[in-house]
Amino acid sequence: MTNLRTFPKYIFVTGGVCSSLGKGIASASIGALLKASGYKIFVQKLDPYLNIDPGTMSPSQHGEVYVTDDGAETDLDIGHYERFIDVSLSKDSTVTTGKIYTEVLTKERRGDFLGGTIQIIPHITDAIKERIQQAAKKSKCDIMIIEIGGTIGDIEGEPFIEAMRQFRNELGSKNVLSMHMTLLPYLKAAKELKTKPTQLSVRELKRQGIQPDFILARADYKIPQALLDKISLFCGVEKRFVIPVTTSNSIYEVPVKFYEHRITELIAEKMQLQNLQTNIEEWEKLLQKINASDQELSIGLVGKYMRLEDSYISIIEALKSACYACGCKLNIVWINAERLESQTSNEWEKIKKIKAIIVPGGFGNRGIEGKVLAAKYARIHNIPYLGICLGAQILAIEYARYILNNPQLTSEEFDEYSDSENHVIHFLPGQSNKKSKGGTLRVGSYPCNILRKSIAYESYNQDIVHERHRHRYEFNNYFRNQLSGLIFSGIYERQDLVEIMEIKNHPFMVGCQFHPEFKSRPHKPHPLFFQFIKIACMDKNKNATTF
Ligand code: GLN
Repeated sequence: MTNLRTFPKYIFVTGGVCSSLGKGIASASIGALLKASGYKIFVQKLDPYLNIDPGTMSPSQHGEVYVTDDGAETDLDIGHYERFIDVSLSKDSTVTTGKIYTEVLTKERRGDFLGGTIQIIPHITDAIKERIQQAAKKSKCDIMIIEIGGTIGDIEGEPFIEAMRQFRNELGSKNVLSMHMTLLPYLKAAKELKTKPTQLSVRELKRQGIQPDFILARADYKIPQALLDKISLFCGVEKRFVIPVTTSNSIYEVPVKFYEHRITELIAEKMQLQNLQTNIEEWEKLLQKINASDQELSIGLVGKYMRLEDSYISIIEALKSACYACGCKLNIVWINAERLESQTSNEWEKIKKIKAIIVPGGFGNRGIEGKVLAAKYARIHNIPYLGICLGAQILAIEYARYILNNPQLTSEEFDEYSDSENHVIHFLPGQSNKKSKGGTLRVGSYPCNILRKSIAYESYNQDIVHERHRHRYEFNNYFRNQLSGLIFSGIYERQDLVEIMEIKNHPFMVGCQFHPEFKSRPHKPHPLFFQFIKIACMDKNKNATTF
């Protein structure tokens, strides 16, 4: 069986030394190159933490929660995979220890293993292997990339590494590749990069039964050939398969760098893929655009997870892609929503210098009034404003307070116990019993009908679009005909829910209840982001000064 097997094939990516090495970007880049070689790719992230999914984790700890079309709440790496490979992934792309244990223990209670003792090997490892194979089968992919979260040596990661060992043993090393990414730290005093942590990390991987086929050696500086040779010698990996991964100016350089190191040819050699030819024209074009985009455009991001790029990563990537397409370079100005609540705060000085405002999604009432003030500023001064999910709700609240002259108006989320007649944004009637925090949001893709003669239509140029959601509250239709000057330009018709709102006679003041950032791609910016940046660019020379 092993020798006859052709597809699917599997590539495992593990990490050593420390976290945040860019394993996700590396996996996504390899996926992108294999797709550019004509293969159908699927990607799966195995996260060893105990949560069922990251839906309940704080973005400031774990980064953004990414959402797929089918409504999986996932790790932000899934976003990298989708952006780089331009595939639509699914629930099968995200596996956690929590999910695996829930599955095995549910079976145990049902009596599926009657008489048996349930153990990590084989029950947990079997469940992991099954998830991998099922995902490959369902997606009908040729090659599946599996990234194992965490770092070699983590106790909670061991069952996943063991499952990978068994899998490779069962299917053979031509069908299951192992790539290990490590860090070469730079010591200032010694003025050199060090290979010892890599050696120790590979030793630990081998102790768990896995010989890596590739080592992806990450460093902030150029790695001398002598060090790459040393890694090869100590880790028992042929020199050609030790790939240097030095820190790039843009993450989108990584596929091109990997290509230059002939990574696809090396994968083809190990996996016996015939006649492989990789077309990286699309990536080269993107890099040309990135390098040609020099005029800076300052966009204010009004949020509460400040300076933590990972908390807003898809938004930042969507803004960047739109900027590349418009020939400008994104300068994110981080604006702390809470501080805006004081009129004398320095944050107001920052706001006066930016060309557009984006208010991203969020939960809870910290910083809400500051966000409302930012929306008011954008409305009064004709500053382009894009409100996403919570940011759209803020637009509605600010506008309703202004038109109806009622400062009490708010969202039920921030004011659960007051009169429901104040709730411009409310909990959808009928959902009221589902307030437990995990897995109860409106998530995933829904259709949205676009009103002609609107900014939304100008952006999409389509009558129906499909966008991804992740929220609990909705615009309260009771207010729909009370807010003159607010255009409801996107509707989810089945439930008559407002999806897009925009302010009349404003260059671009748009709020969308969904998350367009999840569908933006580096080569194909999302229409709403593109329009937002285009208008912001036109407004380049205007500088608002009064409030
Ligand atoms: N907290 C808001 C809600 O649940 C918005 C959520 C979001 O921005 N993702 O509706």
